[in-house]
Amino acid sequence: MEAAGKRLLVDCGLFQGTDDLKQRNWNPLPIDPKTFDFAILTHAHLDHTGWLPVLVRSGFNKSIFANPATIELTTLLLKDSGHLQEEEAADAVKNKWSKHAQPRALYTSDDVEPVLRLLKPMPRSGGFDISPEFHAESFDAGHILGSSSLRLTITENGKKTVVVFSGDVGRYDQPILNDPTSPAGTAIDTLLCESTYGDREHETGDPATLLADIVNRVVKRGGSIVMPAFAIGRTQTFMYYLRELEDQQRIPKIPVYVDSPMALSATDLYLKHKEDHDADFVHGEQNGGDPLSVHNFHLTRSVEESKQINNVKTPCIIVSASGMVTGGRVLHHLAQRLGDARNAVILGGFQAEGTRGRALQEGAKTLSLFGKPVPVLAEIIEMGQFSAHAGKSELLRWLAGLQAVPKQTWLTHGEPAAAQALQQAISEKFSWKAAVARYLDTVELG
Ligand SMILES: [Zn+2]
Repeated sequence: MEAAGKRLLVDCGLFQGTDDLKQRNWNPLPIDPKTFDFAILTHAHLDHTGWLPVLVRSGFNKSIFANPATIELTTLLLKDSGHLQEEEAADAVKNKWSKHAQPRALYTSDDVEPVLRLLKPMPRSGGFDISPEFHAESFDAGHILGSSSLRLTITENGKKTVVVFSGDVGRYDQPILNDPTSPAGTAIDTLLCESTYGDREHETGDPATLLADIVNRVVKRGGSIVMPAFAIGRTQTFMYYLRELEDQQRIPKIPVYVDSPMALSATDLYLKHKEDHDADFVHGEQNGGDPLSVHNFHLTRSVEESKQINNVKTPCIIVSASGMVTGGRVLHHLAQRLGDARNAVILGGFQAEGTRGRALQEGAKTLSLFGKPVPVLAEIIEMGQFSAHAGKSELLRWLAGLQAVPKQTWLTHGEPAAAQALQQAISEKFSWKAAVARYLDTVELG
């Protein structure tokens, strides 16, 4: 954003998904990174923070504001991302799969440290002056720990302009986090709203009951469950439900392997940042429980421990990253267990175009893992209830909560069909004009 002679960057993410999209990560920004005066983050996910190392390496050296939980999660994610970028480049060199003659990492761990030094805390809620020209207010977005929608008020020559960024809007009535809160109470000049699920509703039905059915069904036939999950957010929600079902004696206490060192660190942060907890979670903790830990819990740190899970032939649950099956240890577990019809795979989150997760979701008969086709015989179950993204009607609920008709609305963050469907729904429900933002679009704010 550029206003009052200052430049503010809101989020700075990696493109993920198809090769075409990922290629954009190598393009320079249309604006010289050195000329930005500040940056601010809505939340820690890599599609909102994962390009910061490139930005800083390219000369950005100003403050990056975020709330304390987002700073800690971003630190965790960026360090991991640096390693992953290095590993992927090394793997491309070794196995010669890259289109490039000399594959190199987009960035390395060395590029991450300078970013972490620029992260500066801002309040979790309420208002905060970034500068005399920019005032930011933060609202719970209910998406992951620390996630916020932002309302920015820009003062230029005595005139105020209000710009609202939805960030990623989360779910209503989910465990652990507060519901999304719409930034209501003022006129809005420009709204940027995400549209990830603009064309879809999530599966209905009580997630606890559905999960109990799945666990009992799979255990009865002697199978195991693999859940590809982001270490942050989905893993904690899943553990919360499992623990609740165990305590209510609705499922047996079978071993649960969380095969992701990052997931444990993230769970610690979820427990630590009480400012984000909803009333039910506070109540559960006050009763002396550990609502994010199942009874028969195993955390695997080393690759060796991870491989030993292959020897577990009795029913168990394995939670492992990555959530869209694009990489990580979950690949080993699927290679091991996809070919057995007694097993089940739970897909709990958004599966982007071009990912193996999307292929499973769309009923692929085989999946390519480590260069080999693996038959998909396991039961594939989509549980949108675990999604961290608002479904279509939840996005409309969030928009209705603004209680103001923005002078202009731009839809972002969705695949084209999703963004267009939300555009249509907004026009039908509210009679607002909304436009779908395209890559590199420029917009007048006032
Ligand atoms: Zn997100």
